[in-house]
Amino acid sequence: MLIVMRHGATRDEVDKVVSVIQEMGYQARPMPGVQRMAVGLVGNDGRVDASRLEGLPGVQEVIHVTKPYKQVSREWKNEPTVVRLAGGVAVGGTEVVAIAGPCSVESERQIVEAARQVKEAGAVILRGGAWKPRSSPYSFQGLGKPGLRLLAKAREETGLLVCTEAMDENGLGWVAEMADIVQIGARNMQNFSLLKLAGRCGKPVLLKRGISATVTELLLSAEYLLAEGNHEVILCERGVRSFDTATRNLFDLTVIPVVHKLSHLPIIADPSHGTGLRDKVIPMARAAVAAGADGIIVEVHPNPEEALSDGAQSLYPDQFMQLMREVRIIAEAIGRRVAEPAAVSA
Ligand code: PEP
Ligand code: MN
Repeated sequence: MLIVMRHGATRDEVDKVVSVIQEMGYQARPMPGVQRMAVGLVGNDGRVDASRLEGLPGVQEVIHVTKPYKQVSREWKNEPTVVRLAGGVAVGGTEVVAIAGPCSVESERQIVEAARQVKEAGAVILRGGAWKPRSSPYSFQGLGKPGLRLLAKAREETGLLVCTEAMDENGLGWVAEMADIVQIGARNMQNFSLLKLAGRCGKPVLLKRGISATVTELLLSAEYLLAEGNHEVILCERGVRSFDTATRNLFDLTVIPVVHKLSHLPIIADPSHGTGLRDKVIPMARAAVAAGADGIIVEVHPNPEEALSDGAQSLYPDQFMQLMREVRIIAEAIGRRVAEPAAVSA
């Protein structure tokens, strides 16, 4: 529920609304907006007496948020959320941000080399998992904590920001300490205890869509993060399971405009996991930017044939370079531009 204040409502009137909400046993979130001041009532269990709020001085109207997710919805906040990162990198504004790097961190040499290559091509954020959610327990599981140290080293060497996955509650603290963006992977999209912790971790979160999650489920998972006080959330489409085995997943680009309509949160696209095939990554990355994605996250490996995970979908560095050239043109065609690594202090 959103209590919209009249234009020119006084500080005392806003404070009164906040205290009445608290007296009723709910949380109040004052939200100064460009157009108007509003106070969000968080935790509505359906028993809120709206008339008590409607009658308060300075209140213009009480809006009932009709969607099951509240704080992530456009009804709650119309202006797009821009997640601001170090070095002037912003996700959700006019710039399209490229996150790139290998699927897994494998060695210092590999991750530093990959970081240099993706930076040269135009990425501003380095990706790479230290803990890997693998379908088979016998597949490479990631380097764990030492992998985080290698990512920090690559950041030091290149000035790129780091986005890496926290797979469980133990690892989350370490990841949040080191990373610029904490990734919650597709398999954990509905790990609600992990989401609650990530909502309190103090770092922006990249929340990937679950393998067969609906848009509503994705947005409800994001709501867990906002409900815990973390408003720096970036959503990610990474393909969903389908009946067709021609590609690894069905890369659902429709979700980009759908989410932009329903939510103020930024959404990026992952054509690597979305397609699973190197030669499909490039056209679908272009398509994602054309569809309005606020960024792309792409797997790039210095030697894809030697990759310990997801080699078949990892681009060669020169392919990524070419992709970035194309993506710049597409971004410009729709009134945006690609964030350049110059924005990052090396
Ligand atoms: C990844 O980004 O490396 C990853 C495992 O992605 P997802 O959770 O989308 O499968
Ligand atoms: Mn991968």
